[in-house]
Amino acid sequence: MNARAVIIGGGIVGSALAYHLTVVHGWNNIVLIDQGDLPENPGSTSHAPGGVVANAHNKTLTDMAQYSADLYESLPNPKGPHHTFRRYGGIELTRTPERYEDMVRLNGEMAGWGYESRMLSPEETYEYLPFIDPKVITGSLFSPASGLVKGVQVVDGFLNLARATGGLDVHPNTAFRDVVVVDGRVVGVETAIGHIKTDTAVLAANIWSPALAHKLGAIPLMAFQHHYAITHPLKQWSDTDHEDPDLEAVYPLIRDLDAAMYYRRHWDALGIGSYHHVPQMVDPRDVGPDAMRPFTPEHFGDAWRLAREMVPMLRDSAPEFQKAYNGMFAFSADGMPILGESLQARGFWSANASWITHAAGVAKSVAEWMVEGETEWDMRQCHLHRFQEHVKSRQYIDVVTQKNYREVYDLIHPKQPITEPRNVRLSPYHAEHVAAEARFTAFAGFELPNWYESNAGLADELSERIPSRTGLGSQWWSPIMGAEHLAIRENAGLMDLTGLSIIEVSGPGASEIVGFLCSNETDVEIGKVVYTCWLTPGGGIKRDLTVTRLDSDRYWMFVGEGTLPQDLEWVRRHAPSSVTVNDISPAYTAVGIWGPHAHTVIERVMSEEDLKGFDFYTARWIEIAMTG
Ligand SMILES: Cc1cc2nc3c(=O)[nH]c(=O)nc-3n(C[C@H](O)[C@H](O)[C@H](O)COP(=O)(O)OP(=O)(O)OC[C@H]3O[C@@H](n4cnc5c(N)ncnc54)[C@H](O)[C@@H]3O)c2cc1C
Repeated sequence: MNARAVIIGGGIVGSALAYHLTVVHGWNNIVLIDQGDLPENPGSTSHAPGGVVANAHNKTLTDMAQYSADLYESLPNPKGPHHTFRRYGGIELTRTPERYEDMVRLNGEMAGWGYESRMLSPEETYEYLPFIDPKVITGSLFSPASGLVKGVQVVDGFLNLARATGGLDVHPNTAFRDVVVVDGRVVGVETAIGHIKTDTAVLAANIWSPALAHKLGAIPLMAFQHHYAITHPLKQWSDTDHEDPDLEAVYPLIRDLDAAMYYRRHWDALGIGSYHHVPQMVDPRDVGPDAMRPFTPEHFGDAWRLAREMVPMLRDSAPEFQKAYNGMFAFSADGMPILGESLQARGFWSANASWITHAAGVAKSVAEWMVEGETEWDMRQCHLHRFQEHVKSRQYIDVVTQKNYREVYDLIHPKQPITEPRNVRLSPYHAEHVAAEARFTAFAGFELPNWYESNAGLADELSERIPSRTGLGSQWWSPIMGAEHLAIRENAGLMDLTGLSIIEVSGPGASEIVGFLCSNETDVEIGKVVYTCWLTPGGGIKRDLTVTRLDSDRYWMFVGEGTLPQDLEWVRRHAPSSVTVNDISPAYTAVGIWGPHAHTVIERVMSEEDLKGFDFYTARWIEIAMTG
């Protein structure tokens, strides 16, 4: 058998990808395999109650969710109207003034991105949801684009549309065994029904994917059990006509963010989803054939208490359910999807760590990337190669994904550093920072100072010139930052630039490839520094950076540690084999000195000869002093 591409996994992501490749891009001879049945797969898609949440503080995720909702809505409804997707809207309940303020911010972000949403008072919320207790809430955010989807129906819809093009061949109950890679490129896929000759394979096995990805590279995600329970029929909804599809859910999808819970109606019963329990992590190698575990009522006690608080009609029922289970889904190391082509096995793609909410947007992006070489939306935050080495370690993934589960709906300030793991990487100046009473943030795993408490006196001195802040803006901020800023603007300041990384490009052809990647002329004199951009194939900006020419065939490209892994991948992907591309950051460190008196300071540590001709945008080796 041969195929233009093999998709491994037929959940909502794999099937949406099959749809995009065939229907949208006109590819044919696509093979999709799944270890289990389809469309009712053994994965998360078949177990989810189907909330599509069309809002998030993240623009990429919001674009993906809005696109997904539109596409799900356009799918045929094989079992009658409103069956596959229905746009009931979504309501984010707020129990505290702080949460309300956060939703006001989200409402503003949505407006800024051109999407509709509006704030509701407790009374207005009650008009939408006449079964909650409005006294428990401070208000809510309503997003009309949100809705409820039936995962199995969506998979069926995507696969049927893709099959109808004649371009898709679906093989349920066919396990993926291995991908065959020769000289760094995919040449085939081994499956339970034999070898498939192909140069393109896409892993869309989600919670199983880390166990199948050794040739692709690391997929830092973890599987988690997640509780979903449907009450017995409630007498308040006893007149529900089960034949009327309009009465299946009726109300908007509800997220009770401060309780880490969500609700939807199922005819005459209420479905309750809960993150309000200790994380129940499952190693991807131990998931087994089905993404399901028995319900653990001992973890549902708090959730039941909070549900009764919010929904008065539950107050006279016992915590007994007509259906309750621990489904399983994925949490990635940073909460974002993991997408893109492997550098070490070209032609092997990842389409993992997506929610149902974003699945069609994820599939659209992966398909564009495969077919056109780039995507409409910026994939920086979703890039397969975005993870530093420490993020790929088993222990880090364990700790960070459990944290992500616990904090899933938490109020996270945009400037709030990760809570754990901390102290993963320390700068060479860490002891000096501690001595200066640094308040640290974590950047790409490094502990770096936000400000020094030892400069509190400076802040007092300059207080009249530092605008005060209130509310959200005053959190994770100190007037000392303003004082340090003024001191640098008017005098000089030394910065720890450990977060600056160096990609060394050397060997025959180095000058040509650096020139190809950069928008400015980089074929400059040795010792010159060029500030420039990398452009994307479509003419967008990939990143800005400075490039230093150290020799005729040796350059240093200075990028940020945060994006270093994907920047390194970008250069390696384009470089010819004669050129060596290395991350040499661990061998060096960097400090920066800024301010009008910076020169006066360096004059004290450099000889006159070293200083001669040492102008802006030049680089040279100088000797200052012994370290240590
Ligand atoms: C209880 C619960 C509630 C949820 N609620 C929501 C919600 O309200 N909103 C939301 O957006 N998301 C929700 N989710 C999450 C959502 O269901 C998943 O994120 C989404 O379905 C993932 O889709 P997928 O296609 O990536 O993975 P899956 O649906 O898990 O598909 C992966 C497929 O890969 C196949 N596979 C694995 N190994 C192999 C192999 N070796 N060979 C071949 N095939 C293989 C599996 O059989 C499976 O069919 C919920 C999940 C659960 C469990």
